[in-house]
This record gives sequence, C-alpha cells and structure tokens, in this order.
Amino acid sequence: MKVFLSTDMEGTAGVVDWQQCSGDTAEAAAGRRLLLAEVNAAIEGAIAGGATEIVVNDSHSTMRNFPAEQLAGQASYISGSHKPLYMMQGLDDSFGAALLVSYHGSVGARAGLSHTYNPRAVVEARIDGTVTGEAGINALVAAHYGVPVVLVTGDRCACEETAELIPGVRQAIVKEHVSRLAAYSLHPDRACALIREQARAAVQSAAAAGPPPLDPGVLEVSVRTTDIAEAASWVRGVEQSGPRQLRIHGPDRLATYRSFCAAILLTRTVAEMV
Ligand SMILES: [Zn+2]
Repeated sequence: MKVFLSTDMEGTAGVVDWQQCSGDTAEAAAGRRLLLAEVNAAIEGAIAGGATEIVVNDSHSTMRNFPAEQLAGQASYISGSHKPLYMMQGLDDSFGAALLVSYHGSVGARAGLSHTYNPRAVVEARIDGTVTGEAGINALVAAHYGVPVVLVTGDRCACEETAELIPGVRQAIVKEHVSRLAAYSLHPDRACALIREQARAAVQSAAAAGPPPLDPGVLEVSVRTTDIAEAASWVRGVEQSGPRQLRIHGPDRLATYRSFCAAILLTRTVAEMV
C-alpha cells in the first residue's frame, strides 16, 4: 500500500517558538532534527502496519527541511517551493492512506503556534460550518481522491480539531497547550514511540477507513482586512461573501482547495502591506 505523509512542523514535541521553526540558527537546526525523528517514527510505524511505499511531502516554511537521505523507509521526498497542491502535493488516488504529521491548532484556537496557512491573512476557516485548521482544509484533497486520512500527530488542539471533521482518525498527541508560545511536551523518545505505534495501527486498519466525510466541502474563510478579501476574490471559485468573508466552493473539492491555495498566495503581498 502506498502511504502519503504531509508534514508541518509546529506540532512537534519540544517545538514552542517560531525561532525553532525556520532559519539557519542552531536552534532551528535542532527543531528540524526533532521533526525528522517524528516523521521517521511515522514512516517506520506505517511500514510496520503494511505500507510498501512512502511519499513524504514537506509542507513547512521553505518546504525543504530534511536531508533527503535521512528519511526512513527509503521514502520519496517532495520538497521545495511553489507546489500547486501545497501541503498535499503528490497525493492522488493511487494512495491507500494519508498521514498528517506535526500539525498544529487553527488560528484563534488555544494552541501553541496556532495559525491557519497565513497568520497575517486568515482569521478563521470553516468547512461546512465547522471551524478547522490546516488538517481539515488539506483533507479536502484526500476527500477528492477518496484517500482516508488515518493519522494526525501534533498538539492536542490539532488532533481534536482534525477528529471533529474526520471521526475515527488516529491521534498521537505529543504536546499540551500552555500558551501560544509554551507547551508541555512529551520527551522526544516517547513522542516518537507514540507516533510509531499510532501510525502502525492507523495504516493497518486503513482499508476499513473511508475518505474524509467533507461533503459538500464548502470552505469559508474570514480574513483580516477588506483588501485581503477583495484581492482573494480575483481568484476563480472565490466569492467575497462579506466585507472580510470569503466563500470557496469549486466544482469539486480539489478545485476548492486549489482556489484556496491561489488566494493564499495572491493575498500574501496585500497581507504584508496592511
Ligand atoms: Zn502549518
């Protein structure tokens, strides 16, 4: 079975501050090592659960956070900027399961390093009326291709938000919220052991899991300013439903996700200026 793994970073045990999440400092390098260990734990668990091929899509910041040769399980590696399907690049209907590793809580939630794609632009996102973070939005792609999302790892908020939209998803909660810049983390060895075990169980039972039940999959996004909303509405499929409200509903759930990604990219400049 082919298994797809999308990895973020802010949900890693021991990672609590933006300084650990990007750049060339020793602290950022240490953060990437913690993340790599969790990604490899998920890969090892997936293989123990029956995965025969793993594709890792690096979805954080520059999206090239790992030395490719250090990925476990001879995983293929999708990395680098400007991927049309962004955090879900590479997923299609040839996969038997999708894993979301090191995810974090949505913007506005009581969660460490909380944000939803662009913290300067997005104030809240909802799918079919339910507030969601990146996991729920990304699950639109899995729903389109009929691939079950069987595992989420990260802080408690990320896992619980994901489970609200995808009942039955396995969770590896490696971190508890203290403040937006503080957390109570499991020791990395324990975090990795938990992720390995949950990944194994998740992949082992993936054949019985259905795709995320996001139907119709209407994505509503509140943004910070009217300018951001207006620029976003230039994208096909994005309707400005209020002064700072967007409604995104394409002909299918993949189109909805693509419109969202295009809007996020397009509004980046506007969001920086206001
Ligand atoms: Zn993120």
